Amino acid sequence: MLWDNVCNKIQAQIGEAEFKSWIKPLVFKSIDNDIVCIECPSLFIKNWLEANLVRTLENCLTSCLPDLKTVHIKLIVNSNRKNKEENNTTPAIPATDPGSSQNLDTRYTFDNFVVGKPNELAYAAAQKIAESQKVQFNPLFLYGGVGLGKTHLMHAIANRIKQANPKRRVVYLSAEQFMYEFIKAIRSKDTMSFKAQFRNIDVLMVDDVQFFSTANATQEEFFHTFNVLIDNNKQIIISADKSPSDLENIEERLKSRMNWGLVADIHPTTYELRLGILQNKVERSEYSVPNTVLEFLACKITSNVRELEGALNRVMAHAELVGKDIDLDLVIYALKDVLKAQEKIITVGDIQERVSEYYGLKRSDLKSACRRKSISRPRQMAMYFCKQMTPMSLPEIGREFGGKDHTSVLYAVNNVEKLRKLDPHFSQELDTLLRMLNAS
Ligand code: ADP
Ligand code: MG
Repeated sequence: MLWDNVCNKIQAQIGEAEFKSWIKPLVFKSIDNDIVCIECPSLFIKNWLEANLVRTLENCLTSCLPDLKTVHIKLIVNSNRKNKEENNTTPAIPATDPGSSQNLDTRYTFDNFVVGKPNELAYAAAQKIAESQKVQFNPLFLYGGVGLGKTHLMHAIANRIKQANPKRRVVYLSAEQFMYEFIKAIRSKDTMSFKAQFRNIDVLMVDDVQFFSTANATQEEFFHTFNVLIDNNKQIIISADKSPSDLENIEERLKSRMNWGLVADIHPTTYELRLGILQNKVERSEYSVPNTVLEFLACKITSNVRELEGALNRVMAHAELVGKDIDLDLVIYALKDVLKAQEKIITVGDIQERVSEYYGLKRSDLKSACRRKSISRPRQMAMYFCKQMTPMSLPEIGREFGGKDHTSVLYAVNNVEKLRKLDPHFSQELDTLLRMLNAS
């Protein structure tokens, strides 16, 4: 019963295709206090879940278990199948019919994709492809880190094309599904019909090609499919976490083909984009969330959009559960695990070191009274980070910067906030430094 509820919830969140691939094969085993034990059919699925879905799963479980504040999932591999599957990393993905649009997730559209500097090129290219009748660049190669919107854009293209012309055959597959389907066809000695499936399509999308395993028959097959489609002037869209040239495991000739069309990268998010995404999500929800909360989340959850959305969902679910309005206290409570995981103890020394290093200054420059912009700007940024990331008071921070007055620190903090809003270049540098500090 509980597991059924969790399944319904998670399917609503991740869509049917992902649900079928990753959640359906799981077996609920036991629950002991706040530890929920779940069995996976293979190590491959376990690893994938750990990297991608465990948090979402935990959130769904938590929201179905009102007595528990948090739940931890323990994934185990079914030992009967373990040995067999460890040598064979084929995921247990259910059969797909590339001709149908069952793989398409209609929740991912252009309308709910928030555009900012980091993703504007990818967005523009995706829109162009979705809207033009002629093939303009082939293939479109989208790349960027996890959770930055590649899959979202691919589905948005497919949905837009299907909407304008339901007859067009748009096929979306993950690289794993492509491999799986192909291997299955080889096993059943039916590669002919596998090939035939791709003959009559208009648009082929293959997501996450970094998961193609080392050069083998699958890549060979993909290469041929790819060539046939390009020769017939059919659109191909590919995504990966790296640029074509940086992909390991991929044959040279395939890499060079992927470089032919337009290569568009999605950069890590900036503060502005994160805030925009949060505002957009809130507007589409029934919750009211104060801006201070959104700013707090945009500042704290810098990893990627998926995590950011996850945090917001968690806050909303928590508010619903305890029947309270969303404010900072509630957020800090609901996200204490997430925040703790992100929180590293960062000292004034760390901040001064990173900032001076980044701008090629000496640490003593930051403590000096020099008013030259090349020094005063980094100094102000360092003070700003100290205010944001350490528990120190303004006078304490001032003391660490060569005995400055608390009003100078306050001025620095305000000035940085002002510039962050006005100057995109500045804002980007601030974000880079923030990420460097969080990663150090
Ligand atoms: P990727 O495929 O690059 O790993 P996804 O496309 O799965 O990332 O994005 C992760 C989540 O973040 C999805 O729920 C997606 O809708 C959301 N997302 C990513 N970028 C944006 C954006 N610019 N605007 C709105 N939502 C976004
Ligand atoms: Mg993806």
